Amino acid sequence: MARYSGAVCRFCRRENQKLFLKGDRCFTEKCAFERRAYPPGQHGQGRIKFSEYGLQLREKQKVRRMYGLLEKQFRNLFAKADRLRGITGENFLTMLERRFDNIIYRAGFANSRSEARQLVRHGHFLVNGKKVNIPSLLISKGDEIAIREKSHNLTQIKAAIEGAKRKEIPQWLEMSPADFKIKVRDLPARDDITAPIEERLIVELYSK
Ligand code: SF4
Repeated sequence: MARYSGAVCRFCRRENQKLFLKGDRCFTEKCAFERRAYPPGQHGQGRIKFSEYGLQLREKQKVRRMYGLLEKQFRNLFAKADRLRGITGENFLTMLERRFDNIIYRAGFANSRSEARQLVRHGHFLVNGKKVNIPSLLISKGDEIAIREKSHNLTQIKAAIEGAKRKEIPQWLEMSPADFKIKVRDLPARDDITAPIEERLIVELYSK
């Protein structure tokens, strides 16, 4: 699957908020947004007034970049959410939150979603006892995720486990770093997603 591998700090500057794409660096003074909190480019410091379409587009780009998806993946997931019963915007956000790579990030096993994706792709995890290396897999209630025994002694995994012990994890996940396991207690609800997101704008954009 194709992926974006260019600079990411410019995304935070473009969206005018921190998207936390670079792990620990985001909490240091090296954060590019802390130093230059205005959009990149020659006219970045000028006054920007968005049209209604512009606002919708920016919101979509912000969420897409936050979760690290390409346009096609993002749109396909939206189409799936649109087919479900209930409120499309909420369904969409909770589906993003249920992605395997996001859960690894939320559980603190990775410092960023891109790092989580790499760990998943390298096959370090089991889901309900089976090796899974698909970052887009949607995790269900009751699923149990474990780090493969073979991977326990890898430096990257050890660092991830140490990291997980320090992090606060969402209520809908149950974490036991000592056993290298995460249990999905419940599916995430809209209120569990605390990042400032106006999903209504994304629904409006894709409904045009
Ligand atoms: Fe965004 Fe993190 Fe870069 Fe800061 S360091 S601009 S929060 S990705």
